[in-house]
Amino acid sequence: MSIPNVLSRAALLVASLGAAWSASAQEQVLNLYSARHYQTDEALYADFTKATGIKINRVDADDAGILARLRSEGASSPADVVMLVDAARLWRAEIDGLFQPVKSKLLESRIPAQLRGKDDGAGAQWYGFSTRARVIVYAKGIVQRADVDTYEDLADPKNKGKVCTRSGSHPYNLSLFGSVYEHLGAEKTEAWLGGVVANMARDPKGGDTDQIKAVASGECGVAITNTYYLARLMRSSKPEDRAVVEKVGVVFPNQASWGTHVNIAGAGVAKNARNREAAVKFLEYLAGDSAQTYFANGNNEYPAVPSVKLANPALDAMGAFKADLIPISTVGLNSVRVQQALDRAGYK
Ligand code: FE
Repeated sequence: MSIPNVLSRAALLVASLGAAWSASAQEQVLNLYSARHYQTDEALYADFTKATGIKINRVDADDAGILARLRSEGASSPADVVMLVDAARLWRAEIDGLFQPVKSKLLESRIPAQLRGKDDGAGAQWYGFSTRARVIVYAKGIVQRADVDTYEDLADPKNKGKVCTRSGSHPYNLSLFGSVYEHLGAEKTEAWLGGVVANMARDPKGGDTDQIKAVASGECGVAITNTYYLARLMRSSKPEDRAVVEKVGVVFPNQASWGTHVNIAGAGVAKNARNREAAVKFLEYLAGDSAQTYFANGNNEYPAVPSVKLANPALDAMGAFKADLIPISTVGLNSVRVQQALDRAGYK
């Protein structure tokens, strides 16, 4: 055997050992704690694994369940990425120190500043990846649109016996009420909540879709819902779902004043993440064009990245609107005060 041959064999051996080492190094995992309760996210996660080789282990629970789990696990938590679907909860996780800052040029260039968590210079605590508006739906032909085109109208005596909502202390409502608190102040907000309770057609129950259906059935005249629940019914293949939509009108409230309340789904890297690099990669992946389209469109939400334009017939039909731009931290802080006002107002 000639010397060059021996050398090239040795090189081959080293190369194949290197391949074996990097193969095991590439067996990366990412532990994702997710409050996203939307089937359509499955393909999004699968695509990330396909593109990066990083396997995702997912723990699903609602926001409260995830936060409770993170707190009880403490420093031994296996969570790498925490994904929540409500601004007040993201804020709560942030002030409880459940995230670690992430500095990323890509995320900073893609996600608008008002959709990011606190940044002390080391990077934001979390990033928002989609938004949804909290709108009013009303019974067409029974309730006049002009009578329900503001959140304040929900407490007006003209809507007595007509209002339906899910539980007042559900995060979606707490965040909405936290924003109202910012605009009206403590006293007026408490009076407003009392007025909403006095106008109720029935005790709060069910989810947002149940409220829309109750408006269509005539049980309620007006209700509150996130836009994606309505869009889901609009795009449903079931005729009975589309029949529900035919009977309801939708209003983006407060267009002549502070704008419609917008909530966000966002994620951050967990405080004690062991797979930090994979976690940051995952957040950056979520800000990409195709993931943004999928993340938002799959659940009929609005993409967080402004340059990403969706072709979503249901959202297009609802039209453009003016959004309330108060900071997420304000909504979060106020939602704590609102909980006490809800108890006093007898809002279940
Ligand atoms: Fe939801």
